[in-house]
Amino acid sequence: SKFDKYFLMSSSDAVDYAAEKLSIFACDSELDCKEIGDGNLNYVFRVWDKKSDKSVIIKQAGYTARISDDFKLSPDRNRIEAETLRFQGDLAPGLVPIVYKYDDIMSCCSMEDLSDYTIMRQALLQHKIFPNFAEHITTFMVNTLLLTSDIFLNHQEKKSLVKSYTNPELCEITEDLVYTEPFNDYKHRNDVFPPNLDWVKKELYSDNELKLEVAKLKFEFLTNAQALIHGDLHTGSIFVNENSTKVIDPEFAFYGPMGYDVGNIIANMIFAWVNADATMDNEDESITFKSWVENTICEIIDKFKAKFFKIFREEAKEILAKTPGFSEWYLSQVLHDTAAVAGLELCRRIVGMAHVKDIISIDAESARLRAERICITIAKRYIKNRESYNFGEQFVNTLKEVE
Ligand code: ADP
Ligand code: MG
Ligand code: MG
Ligand code: MG
Repeated sequence: SKFDKYFLMSSSDAVDYAAEKLSIFACDSELDCKEIGDGNLNYVFRVWDKKSDKSVIIKQAGYTARISDDFKLSPDRNRIEAETLRFQGDLAPGLVPIVYKYDDIMSCCSMEDLSDYTIMRQALLQHKIFPNFAEHITTFMVNTLLLTSDIFLNHQEKKSLVKSYTNPELCEITEDLVYTEPFNDYKHRNDVFPPNLDWVKKELYSDNELKLEVAKLKFEFLTNAQALIHGDLHTGSIFVNENSTKVIDPEFAFYGPMGYDVGNIIANMIFAWVNADATMDNEDESITFKSWVENTICEIIDKFKAKFFKIFREEAKEILAKTPGFSEWYLSQVLHDTAAVAGLELCRRIVGMAHVKDIISIDAESARLRAERICITIAKRYIKNRESYNFGEQFVNTLKEVE
């Protein structure tokens, strides 16, 4: 078989792969394929049968990033992704796609086709509202984070998971792009909107108080093997429809701080808010959408807390975790990390090499400048004052104060 040795597949190879390796399609099926990847790193093939309604997604990792050969990356990230999706599917049923097969030779993962869902970032750019999103994403986060931590798992079992989810190359991308370059452009890869350059230099590159806090946070990310985090939980990694939410793309997963995932979600909701603020002409519609985003941020924090406490109190296995006051202390650390990481994500998507469409699609220069400055001003407060963030309302209040 041509699939006995790794190569980067074309669409016609993906058709052959589906026919030979997957038991999804009938022998007399008529398969077609399209490469639909839109991310930075990988190739995503959708293979479907023209004679039935059956289809499959095959995601393959290459030896370099899809967008740039400068990023050399082991395709082992696809193993991490497939194993994480399976693990998360057990912990948070229905909130991730079903994995049909992981292929160690081809470094590809075959999974449930979610083409009838929409990528959340795209939906938010059309200013669509998802009333159940906070409910779904908090269940996903609490289940996948708390249930993989030392609160719940046997400590030896957890250490073996830390080992199998060691993900040094993708962690290094985060260490550089999120925790370093937005504040010190030492690799000269930042991509700042030119009219904002002087302001960014002053606010991010020259604020030594900020840089000290970021240095502390970087060491938190490097050393706190708290839970199996998704590691890339932005609105481009979430599929939504009216009733359901599915999280994809956990190739950055590793044992890290829980607040990394929660903070990413919060920051990306803020991107949706500033996009609406900058681009929606109809005042009533703008207020409706922004209010939903504000409520959702509030609910994400508060539902996360409520669900976290419930599982913590009912299911904690670690004996000292039951000590009165411990669960409150533990969760408050997670919320402070959440605020800080939301701040880091807000900065890096504005000034770093990987932008978000929410910001770069704002055409009017003055509106984009204002959007970028709102994000960075919120970010600095979240990072510097992270220990004061304990309730959902406080996260939203900062947004309201800054706008
Ligand atoms: P990358 O790691 O390169 O960012 P993603 O996993 O984010 O790759 O996938 C890129 C795109 O491929 C998604 O934005 C989505 O449009 C499509 N895609 C990925 N997984 C699925 C799936 N299970 N069902 C349908 N489309 C998918
Ligand atoms: Mg992606
Ligand atoms: Mg994507
Ligand atoms: Mg990815």
